[in-house]
Amino acid sequence: MDGEIGSGDGRRQPATGIEPEPAGACRRRWFGHAAHDQAPGPKRPSWASPPRPRPSRGSRAVSSTRPSSESLVTLDGSRGEGGGQILRTALTLSLLTGRPFRVSKIRANRDKPGLRPQHKAAVEAAALLGRADVLGCEVGSRDLVFRPGAVEPRDLTIDIGTAGSTGMVLQTLHLPLAMRAETACRLTLIGGTFNPKAPPSPFLERTWRGHLANFGMPVALATPSAGFYPRGGGRLEAWIEPARPKPWVRTTRGDLLRIRGVAGAANLPEHVATRMRDRALARLADAGLNVDAEVETASWPSIGQGAAIALAAEHAGTAPATFVGIGERGKPAELVADEAVDELLDFLGVVDGAVDPHSADQILLPLALAEGRSVYTVSHVTEHLRTNAHTIRAFLDRPIEVEEPLAEGRPGRVVVG
Ligand code: AMP
Repeated sequence: MDGEIGSGDGRRQPATGIEPEPAGACRRRWFGHAAHDQAPGPKRPSWASPPRPRPSRGSRAVSSTRPSSESLVTLDGSRGEGGGQILRTALTLSLLTGRPFRVSKIRANRDKPGLRPQHKAAVEAAALLGRADVLGCEVGSRDLVFRPGAVEPRDLTIDIGTAGSTGMVLQTLHLPLAMRAETACRLTLIGGTFNPKAPPSPFLERTWRGHLANFGMPVALATPSAGFYPRGGGRLEAWIEPARPKPWVRTTRGDLLRIRGVAGAANLPEHVATRMRDRALARLADAGLNVDAEVETASWPSIGQGAAIALAAEHAGTAPATFVGIGERGKPAELVADEAVDELLDFLGVVDGAVDPHSADQILLPLALAEGRSVYTVSHVTEHLRTNAHTIRAFLDRPIEVEEPLAEGRPGRVVVG
C-alpha cells in the first residue's frame, strides 16, 4: 500500500528538504519529572548488538570504524505485503541494532514500485540521525543499502515536498529518537496528514499515542494544519520523550464505553462535514450498538481542499481504535462516512480482538524491542502483520508468533518473546 496518493498536476516540488538542528540540540522535555538523563542507563537488552564505537562529531562515520561482527541483513521488498513497511521497519531496526541492511525489489507490490518521496525522506532523515552511508536513495530506486553509524538524536524538520504521508516518516524515526535520546526531541513533518492506506493524524493522535502510552513511551502530537492530496503542506509536530518500551499483555477487549469522532473538511462547503457526521451517526444507530456516540464537526486549516471522518471506539483498558474515511473529488460525503463505519463495525464484530488491524502491525515493533513477553489479540491477522513479523525477525533474535484466528469472528493472537 502506498502512503502517497497518485500523481497529477498541482503537486508540490518532489524534492525533500530536511533541516537538522545541530546534534545534541534536542529540547528539554516539556514537563518536569525525574530526569531520565541523569538516571543510570537501563541494562542493554539481550537482542541488542554490542555497543558501537562512536565516531567523533564532525567526522563522517566510515565503514572502517564499524565492528567487523556486523552482518548485512538482506531483505526482499516483494515479500508478503511487499510495501514500504519493510523498508521503514528495516530503517528503524538498523538504527537501533547498528546492523546494515540491503533491500531489493522495494515496494514491488505497489502501483508505483520503488521509493516514493516520503520513503526517500524517511531514508534521508534516518541516515542523518544515524550517520549512515546509503546507496540507492533516489525516488524510484528499487534497491537500497543502508550502513548506519552512531545514532545522534536531534530535532528535525522534514518537508516531504509532496502530499506523501507524514505519519509514516514519524513512525520510522520515533523509536530511534525515543530510545537513544537523553532529552525530548522535536520532529516537524510537512506533507500529507490524510493519506489512504497510511496512518492518518487522528489515528496517530488517539490510537498510536494511546498504545505508546501503555508501553511507557509518551509522545505529544499536534497537527496545526491538514495535508491532503494533491497539495500536501500539512504539518505534523511530535515531541518525543526518551523512553524504552515495556511489554504489554491484552487478550480480551474491555467494554465498549463510547464512540467519539470528528468529521472535518478544509476549504470545502460546511455541509460536507455535517453530512459525514449525520451519516455516521445514523449508521451507528442502525447497527443497534446502543452506545453513547458523538461526532463533532471541524473546519481544518490547510493549503488545499479535503475532507475526512475519524471514528474512535473507546474500550475499557486499551487504546481507542480509530477508523478513518477520506474524501476524494467526486466521492459523496456519505460514502466517506460509510467507509469509516464499515471498518469500525468489522472491528467490533470480532469478539475479544483487543487491537485493531492497523495498530496490530504497528505495535509489534516497539513490543519486539521491549524486555519481556507481550501477548495481544487482534481483530484481524493482516498481511502487514505477518510481513512486519518477518522483517523484525531478520534483525532481532526474538521469537514472534502470529497465530491465525481459530474460527470466523474470533481474534488472532500475537506472542512476542
Ligand atoms: P505499507 O503499505 O507497507 O506502506 O504500510 C502501510 C502502513 O500503514 C501499515 O503499517 C498499516 O497498518 C498502516 N495503515 C494503513 N491504513 C491505515 C489506517 N486507515 N489507519 C492507520 N494505519 C493505517
